[in-house]
Amino acid sequence: MLPHEDTLQEKNHQLYSTVGAVAIDKDGNVASAVSSGGIWLKMHGRMGDSAIIGSGIYADNKLGAACATGYGEYIMRLCLCKYACDQMQSKNNAKTSSEKSIDMLTNRFGKNTGGIITVDPTGRFSVAYNTRSMPTAMITKKNQKPLITFGSG
Ligand code: ASP
Repeated sequence: MLPHEDTLQEKNHQLYSTVGAVAIDKDGNVASAVSSGGIWLKMHGRMGDSAIIGSGIYADNKLGAACATGYGEYIMRLCLCKYACDQMQSKNNAKTSSEKSIDMLTNRFGKNTGGIITVDPTGRFSVAYNTRSMPTAMITKKNQKPLITFGSG
């Protein structure tokens, strides 16, 4: 843990600014996208996880797609999105893979450290997080009106 991170973690809901998305089309092509301003009071020149393939973002038609939010320093060390996608290749669905990924993040770095969204190659979506909440929206072919959840952990 870096100096003052324990204090920052208590205020974690104010720190993040990432918006991420995962998608799958009718042919089974998956995609992941992310936009992030990083973490509040970040050091000049800090590189977060969002821009690093396999850490904050990953997609492969054979594995699925994932996008993470939270402490980039921890997410990078675990290559969290690649881990989640590798889990989906091992016959786990999106839900199990997301949960395993966040369990690993929590076990290694504690609660209030991040969240992940995933879609597996069969089109199942999932969300897991160890923070107080993580708002998400989902659109499917059948449900064009976004299904919005705020979640509370
Ligand atoms: N993961 C981002 C970073 O560490 C922050 C966020 O998720 O909002 O830069």
